[in-house]
Amino acid sequence: MTVRTRIAPSPTGDPHVGTAYIALFNLCFARAHGGQFILRIEDTDRERSTAESERMILDSLQWLGLDWDEGPDVGGPHGPYRQSERGDIYAEYAQKLLEAGHAFKCYRTSEELDELREARKAAGQHMALKPADLALPAEEHARREAEGWPYVVRMKVPSEGTCVVEDMLRGTIEVEWTQVDAQILLKSDGMPTYHLANVVDDHLMGITHVLRGEEWINSAPKHQLLYEYFGWPMPALCHMPLLRNPDKSKLSKRKNPTSINYYRRMGFLPQAVTNYLGRMGWSMPDEREKFTLDEMMAHFDVQRVSLGGPVFDLEKLTWLNGVYIREDLDDAALLAALRDWAFNEDYVRQILPQVRPRVDTLSQVMPLAGHFFSGLPAIDESSFASVKLERDELVKLLQFLVWRLEGVTRWEKESLLAEVKLLGEYFELKMKAFLAPVFIAITGSATSTSVMDAMAILGSDMTRARLRHAIAVLGGVSKKQAKRLEKEFREL
Ligand code: GLU
Repeated sequence: MTVRTRIAPSPTGDPHVGTAYIALFNLCFARAHGGQFILRIEDTDRERSTAESERMILDSLQWLGLDWDEGPDVGGPHGPYRQSERGDIYAEYAQKLLEAGHAFKCYRTSEELDELREARKAAGQHMALKPADLALPAEEHARREAEGWPYVVRMKVPSEGTCVVEDMLRGTIEVEWTQVDAQILLKSDGMPTYHLANVVDDHLMGITHVLRGEEWINSAPKHQLLYEYFGWPMPALCHMPLLRNPDKSKLSKRKNPTSINYYRRMGFLPQAVTNYLGRMGWSMPDEREKFTLDEMMAHFDVQRVSLGGPVFDLEKLTWLNGVYIREDLDDAALLAALRDWAFNEDYVRQILPQVRPRVDTLSQVMPLAGHFFSGLPAIDESSFASVKLERDELVKLLQFLVWRLEGVTRWEKESLLAEVKLLGEYFELKMKAFLAPVFIAITGSATSTSVMDAMAILGSDMTRARLRHAIAVLGGVSKKQAKRLEKEFREL
């Protein structure tokens, strides 16, 4: 048997460090067994999936050196590797399940579903809806069918008993069937859900081992049942521990930068990031901290993964990155790294229009535009002395801006301006007054290049990190304050 693993990201946002971490372990598992590693794009959520996000994910994984053998960009014998291009395949397999009686058409309206859930809640029952709950009287079902009502295809699930799933790291996992609902497989627009597409693709693509995040454990019973319905062997499952913040909470962009773009922009070296991700719950047989991807592949043993939530610690990563810079990069390599990072034509060209109108000599460029070539600015509370706002109001302004920017999907000056305008009105501040503290947070000084252009060029992650940094130097937001702010923000 040839071992085949895959990473199956959904292109719905920034390239997440969690994706890179799971990709790394799948790649190492495949290589350690002389197998293949596949990249598949799970873009069945048409509303949230974007081509830009897909491009960034591929680009980030490549930057980290995590190369795949088959994928949407390189092709391969099991394509297409983008689920949005495989619609007919899923429809065909959903039909097979319907014909075999393993799935059913459900004509329930969303109001009816709410009522059913409410009723279960009131009766203190588990919220999972079962085929029997969803069934309509035969006549009503026939009427809706004849009248062409929209429907979804759902899978049948047992209403009692225990489902036993084997996990490579966790051993036997038991889940009560009462907790598992009659999962939707095809949505009313004919698109498959994750569950159907994932199982069909893993089978057709010959995937033998599925290493994925532990958040998918609850899906395993449904997947196992689908494999049984189709009569297919199931890949071995391995649910990896989730990455955590140093306070042990789940790694989230509210606390830590989670996008690979951020680490890249901050000037981390890809080999250091990959090495650090390899330390997440795993260690080399000799426990050394610094190792190359090739070394990791050669020594990889999945049984050495420990389940205690691995902590993604920015300080440790920064330390390791420094070790790489000092020990591994000779002058030529350091120069190449600097070029790759920011001293390249593509990036510098974006900055030229920002500096041209503002300098008389070339030597003024760096003092003016140095913030384009740095990480978090060296600011403290006194940097904001010229801003005529109370501390609390100032922090609120910066915090609301961070939150609004989290929702911006097209990172362009126009969309950023729209956010700033909206918040400016909310705070009843003229544009200039609103931007004054933002300017300091982003550029680190009160006079520099245009702040809106700077945000557009620096990108979402660096912009938000700098705003968060400013909030921190202003004393941060207490838990209590955060609750109040969140409430106010939601009503905005
Ligand atoms: N598309 C899922 C994700 O975004 C894949 C989960 C899996 O590996 O089964 O993580």
